[in-house]
Formats: sequence, structure tokens, C-alpha cells
Amino acid sequence: MEERKPLLQLQNLKKYFDVSTGFFKREQAYLTAVDDVSFDIYKGETFGLVGESGCGKSTLGRSVVRLYEPTGGKIIYDGDDITNLSQHDMMKYRKRLQMIFQDPYASLNTRLTVSEIIGEGIETHNLYSGKEKLEKIYDLLQTVGLKREHASRYPHEFSGGQRQRIGIARSLAVEPELVVCDEPISALDVSIQAQVVNMLEDLQNDMGLTYLFIAHDLSMVKHISDRIGVMYLGKMMEITTSVELYKNPLHPYTQALLSAIPIPDPKQHKINKRIILEGDVKSPINPPEGCRFSSRCRYCMDICTEVTPELREVEPGHFVACHLVK
Ligand code: SF4
Repeated sequence: MEERKPLLQLQNLKKYFDVSTGFFKREQAYLTAVDDVSFDIYKGETFGLVGESGCGKSTLGRSVVRLYEPTGGKIIYDGDDITNLSQHDMMKYRKRLQMIFQDPYASLNTRLTVSEIIGEGIETHNLYSGKEKLEKIYDLLQTVGLKREHASRYPHEFSGGQRQRIGIARSLAVEPELVVCDEPISALDVSIQAQVVNMLEDLQNDMGLTYLFIAHDLSMVKHISDRIGVMYLGKMMEITTSVELYKNPLHPYTQALLSAIPIPDPKQHKINKRIILEGDVKSPINPPEGCRFSSRCRYCMDICTEVTPELREVEPGHFVACHLVK
């Protein structure tokens, strides 16, 4: 059988923010937004990344497309190390790696027309010009469920869902391979969320796209993801297939997240009791050794506050960072 090659590999990726205070920043402090995270994404798959807000998932997404400079570790894209490329050398990868943002309004330049917004990337990468460029823009509008006549309008003339469609069209304009979708549906009405997710799935099938799909809640990534990674305070806690994660969650944090998803069947809902997380969330600034989840974990043991658990493969393709799981 042919071995699958990863399109994206993150190796011990770190992104710290300097939050030192005092005169000449004498009180050195670092916010460890992403701390030693490793995983691969394969061509054509959707990797869902979940965790509560502040867990570092969006910082990780932005680091992947190099909107943030990583503090350490490696980002390997299609076999090439892109971690430290200059902005100039990064240009050829910008076309291949795109991002869809959470807040469609904030991410669109309100002074540009839809046509100008979508056309920017096409121009930057010299893909099409003149009539061909305009035809491409019309095609893209149609692909995302908008109309030709929308091309000359401005972002404020659209609803939230339509603005997200414009953001998606802008990302697709440069014909990317991997798209980082940073909570693309969180800011939308529930009624619109399913439409946008279905559209992203159709686009993936038609264009062979690979997604890193970031969300704060497991129910959002359940259907779209092939594999899911669960993050907590900058660390990866569990990675496995979407099916396995729902059937057999091994990390206490994943179990708590899953228990919070409402189940339509009231009988089943009674069986699956909700796990309420108690205790304070630890500070991500200069965190000590130990499991980052220990302050809220009902199974916490002595070792948990002293030794940071490694992410280990405990079953084929199922990785967990917990001292409890052997
Ligand atoms: Fe809980 Fe310890 Fe496992 Fe952390 S390592 S999740 S504190 S049992």
C-alpha cells in the first residue's frame, strides 16, 4: 500500500509572546500560546482543532500561514521547511496556503468593492488579468453562492453569512491547496452555520482542498473532520480520528468537552452525564512543569503537577497526553 505523505507537518511548534513588565522589562514573562505542538495533516483531509478560547488554536493557525513568526519548532510544508522563510521567499507558499478568518467583516477591507477584494490575490500572484480576471471573480462568486452583480458592491451591503462567503471566495481566488479555517462559522447565526459548513465540504471535494478547521466546540467539527486534535492551554491533549474521538475519548479534558454536547435523545442524555469542570484555569504565563489541565482534572495525581505528560500513541493513530492513560 502506498504510504500517505503529509502536506503539512508541525514539529514541536512554539509561539510565545513576550509579556515582560517593569523597567527595561526586568520581570521577564512569556505567554506560552502554543507550546511544543506536533502533528501532521494529510492531503485532502480535514483536521479539526478544538479547545476553549485562549487555548492557542488560533495562534497555531496564524503561525502555520506565518502571520505570526514561530518562537521555535518547525513548519514543514510539502517537504519544505518554511519556518524561517523571509516574507519574500514566503510569497510562493502564500498562494498555496490560505486562511479564512472568524470575523468576516473585520477581515474585509470596507473601502474596496467585492471585486477588488477577491481580485487582490489574483493580481499579487499574477494569475489572471483583464477580462479573464473578471470572469474568474464572477466564477468564484457563483461558487460561493453569490451573484455577478455583487462584484461591484461593498462589504457593508452584505449579511454576515454573505460576508463570510466573500472571505471564502477571496481565499479560493489564488487556487490554494491548504486552507486554515479559523472559526469560520462561530460569528454566524446557527441557521447559516450549516450552509457554510456544507459549502466548505463541497468545495473540498471539487477542488481537492485540505483544511485545518479551528473551532471552540466539538459539535462544530464533528461532521467536517477526518481527524481531530484537542488543545488545552497551548498543549495538544489528544489526537485521533473523528469517529474514535466520539466513541472512545481517552483524555479527561476531551471527555468533559464531549459531555457538554447536547444529545437529542433524552434517554441517552441521562446516561451520558455532563462533566462539570471545576477549579481555575492555570495561567499560560511562565507555566510550571506538570499537566496544564491538572487544576481542573478530577483524576489529578501527584505526578500530574510535577511531570508534563508527553503526547504518546496509545492505540494506532490515537495520541494522548495523560499520565492516567497507559
Ligand atoms: Fe488529569 Fe493527570 Fe491526566 Fe492531566 S495527566 S489529564 S491531571 S490525570
